[in-house]
Amino acid sequence: MTRATSKVAIVTGASRGIGAAIARRLARDGRKVIVNYSGSADAAAMLVDEIESEGGQAIACQADVSDPQAVRRMFDAAEAAYGGADALVNNAGIMKLAPVATTDDAMFDQMIAINLKGTFNGLREAANRLRDGGRIVSFSSSVVGLYQPAYGAYAATKAAVEALTHILAKELGPRGITVNAVAPGPVATALFLDGKDQATIDRIKQMNPLGRLGEVDDIARVVSLLLGPDGAWINGQVVRANGGVI
Ligand code: NAP
Repeated sequence: MTRATSKVAIVTGASRGIGAAIARRLARDGRKVIVNYSGSADAAAMLVDEIESEGGQAIACQADVSDPQAVRRMFDAAEAAYGGADALVNNAGIMKLAPVATTDDAMFDQMIAINLKGTFNGLREAANRLRDGGRIVSFSSSVVGLYQPAYGAYAATKAAVEALTHILAKELGPRGITVNAVAPGPVATALFLDGKDQATIDRIKQMNPLGRLGEVDDIARVVSLLLGPDGAWINGQVVRANGGVI
């Protein structure tokens, strides 16, 4: 285990995918972790068991990030279990793809509610409740830059997350809290793989200079850096972790 600067970390959307890898990594770094999930209670509980079996500390916490009251309760849970929170990783997100012409209102509203309002709910709560010297990492995407067709509404939510990141870094700097975003390229999780055939996946791999998809641990390492002592001078940045695709 390495020595952690931020002792208690809340990771949203940590039941599966990138968030689960982040929770595992932060626990190995020596942090106490709040494993947030929306619906996957069993997966979150199994991850907590796994962390504890390796000597780490974690609790599972159900909260739909689009609900501000639920996000408040998630911070309450961190305070009740561990006395407070030092880091928030705003990882929870969804991706629905469609050209602008056929993006329906429900699809648009759902991505705004979870990706943008959900991230905002976490940022606002963190701004009020993280301890001084804390860390915030939110999730954008390299589609902000790649701008492929069909990613319009999704990319718009992530561009908004980037704007919030730059501004909150300036607001929280005086308290020694850093605020960054990570913008992965394609990572092999359900969010990316679902609905894509093998030919499409192979084509996307070939677009990457390193010839593969990202793995969840590629991204967890970046978050670990941003939360740890070696990341202390990185603030107000969007870190594209994507193997060089853009
Ligand atoms: P994923 O495998 O689909 O996992 C999504 C996670 O978010 C799950 O733990 C899910 O919890 C949680 N979640 C969804 N809606 C939620 C809500 N309303 N409240 C709380 N938690 C919620 O996705 P992923 O690929 O790991 O993506 C993680 C983040 O990286 C997202 O912000 C995504 O936009 C971003 N990203 C991913 C890629 C990629 O290629 N995978 C690329 C760029 C950026 P439940 O299981 O409980 O529903």
